[in-house]
Amino acid sequence: MSKTFFLDFDGTITKNDVVATMVIKFCRPGWEELNNQWERGELSTEDCANKTFALFDATMEDIYRLLDTIELDNFFVDFVRVCKAGSYPIYILSDGYDILIQYILNRHGLSGLPVYANKLVTGSKGFSIACTYKNPHCQKCGTCKKNLLHHLKGQNTQTVYVGDGCSDTCVCHEADIVFAKGSLLRYCHKNNVKALAYTSFQDIINWLNKNS
Ligand SMILES: [Mg+2]
Ligand SMILES: [Zn+2]
Repeated sequence: MSKTFFLDFDGTITKNDVVATMVIKFCRPGWEELNNQWERGELSTEDCANKTFALFDATMEDIYRLLDTIELDNFFVDFVRVCKAGSYPIYILSDGYDILIQYILNRHGLSGLPVYANKLVTGSKGFSIACTYKNPHCQKCGTCKKNLLHHLKGQNTQTVYVGDGCSDTCVCHEADIVFAKGSLLRYCHKNNVKALAYTSFQDIINWLNKNS
């Protein structure tokens, strides 16, 4: 059966969460409580991001230097090659920022992958978020991955979602197969969502070899 892959970016394609790394490095105190509220579902991504940016002190140059240190999952480039060979579409769905993701992908020669994420807006008062892929029926996501997966999947394809965290809890109910690690795996166990535990993209390559 044909398969279509939908992938989280932060902490899934990358080893560490890019947005969290930025916030830890460039935010004045106060962001932790905002992040906790977001994780508990009390703040939407949009509200959390704009409140966090009010505490944020960095230039675009500072951000790019930090992005230069971000590493990918050791097997992600191989995974993309396997998907190309098997004609399995890949979509990156992220509640992070598209220009930061594109910058990191470009650095690793992966600029062709489609990315659906929030926009980082730069203005005279600093940064803010624009949520182009918001879903009016979802109170949490900036980029609602559930909505995107529903609209991007083709006919007669098995949808496979890969994720690690809080921004994947909405979409994981929608995918046919879920690969989960970290807090997403705990969420899936708690909420009776069938999920396959994984540690790196090598596990997903192995699964594809057995299930293609
Ligand atoms: Mg993540
Ligand atoms: Zn959502």
